[in-house]
Amino acid sequence: MRNTQATKLLFELSQAGRRGNEFPRPDVPDAVADCLPAKFLSDERPALPELTEPDVIRHFTNLSTLNMSVDTHYYPLGSCTMKYNPKRHERLASLPGLVDLHPYQSETDLQGMLGLLFELQEMLAEIAGLPAVSLQPAAGAQGEFTALLVASAYFRDRSENRTKVLFPASAHGTNPASAALAGFDCVQLKPSGSGFVDLDELRSKVDDQTAVFMITNPNTLGLFERDIAEISHILHDAGGLVYIDGANMNAILGITRPGDFGGDMMHYNVHKTFTGPHGAGGPGAGPIAVRDFLADYLPGPIVTRDAESGTFALTNPEKSIGRVRSFFGNVGILLRGYFYLRTLGADGLRTASEDAVLNANYLKTLLHDVLPVPNGGRCMHEFVASAETLKHERGISAMDLAKRLLDYGFHAPTVYFPLVVPEAVMVEPTETESKATLDAFSAAVHQIATEETDFVHNAPHTTPVSRPNEVQAARQPVLKWQCGSDCK
Ligand SMILES: *Cc1c(COP(=O)(O)O)cnc(C)c1O
Repeated sequence: MRNTQATKLLFELSQAGRRGNEFPRPDVPDAVADCLPAKFLSDERPALPELTEPDVIRHFTNLSTLNMSVDTHYYPLGSCTMKYNPKRHERLASLPGLVDLHPYQSETDLQGMLGLLFELQEMLAEIAGLPAVSLQPAAGAQGEFTALLVASAYFRDRSENRTKVLFPASAHGTNPASAALAGFDCVQLKPSGSGFVDLDELRSKVDDQTAVFMITNPNTLGLFERDIAEISHILHDAGGLVYIDGANMNAILGITRPGDFGGDMMHYNVHKTFTGPHGAGGPGAGPIAVRDFLADYLPGPIVTRDAESGTFALTNPEKSIGRVRSFFGNVGILLRGYFYLRTLGADGLRTASEDAVLNANYLKTLLHDVLPVPNGGRCMHEFVASAETLKHERGISAMDLAKRLLDYGFHAPTVYFPLVVPEAVMVEPTETESKATLDAFSAAVHQIATEETDFVHNAPHTTPVSRPNEVQAARQPVLKWQCGSDCK
């Protein structure tokens, strides 16, 4: 049921004289008035809305129900791994012994927390097949940026002047963005018809100026790059490094490892692969893992364990590039990842990946007649279908389909990414969904494909906002309530 109250602003709900709890004035001297210069103090109350506590709680609770979330809806948003976030890990990460710590406490006080972070470093190193880990980066994109700074420091140390970072045409936008921010020139490979990296094209672009080749594996089309070992040889023969964008690790946990197929550096997205919630742009965690010869350049502090005493300490790698995040990174999300890893264990992780791949192939097959996948064959944990035929025959584009799915109670898949597939619909079911949910999603897609075109063009019909002008919404967002006649 639509809740109109929820679409009103607090300022519109305001009624003069409404209050929450008001405490008596303190009978001790007002410290604020004493330490702030008089010219900064106002005699008037700020023009804030006046509401009772229930007014405020209902407002925000109702607002929270206007959006879709993993806890309320199936969310097959390709590339983002929107798997269920187990509540058990929320509870564990909220234990008083963890949340009541302060990062400025002494290392002695922090032994328990440092122990967990140390174990997490070890587990991430093992899963990556790369021995040295920094937990600092706050997101995948920052992990990319950090690893590129590490690469930069490494080459500088060797007096090698390498200025280029290469990536395939299907790369996630953060790859070139990170490379540019880290001061490299970006070189994009020409798209190949097959969806895989074209080795001849790669060979023609790799030279003694090449610092890093960034590649997502499985790649953005949800296909495992079968030539990854050869790709790594090409880079290593030229003295360059291979960066594995680990956003798609959910397909290969415990099955294969970036370090084993030639990667020198990688990032994890703890909020994707290891069930940390994706919270409206943050907080996330993007730890990186690197080869031994890059370990000295990692950002500090790293948690180390004294072999004899077993105590944990914070240390800075010898030639560290410095901090990229305050304290030890986004510990709250790292802890959720830690508990996830401990809950599943090595066998459980492998099963999670196998189920993620099974679910994707099952759904891909169900949707095949309406949304064929141009790059055919088996996929990994996600697939990129095309709505081109649907658009051509029925006038229903990828965007129309995405919008109409909201009326059926499904979050839309990723659309129009990657750019190499026309009318792209990128579906990532994840392993946490049941067969019944995948069947229902497929039934909805098939139903929409038969619906009247105009009706689909005007969808969604059941959401508070239907189709905002997306460019205008991005360029001129209306975020601020305009003060009207009812406000002084
Ligand atoms: C999500 C994603 C990123 C960026 O990760 P964030 O944690 O959102 O910064 C990079 N590459 C790929 C392939 C992704 O899917």
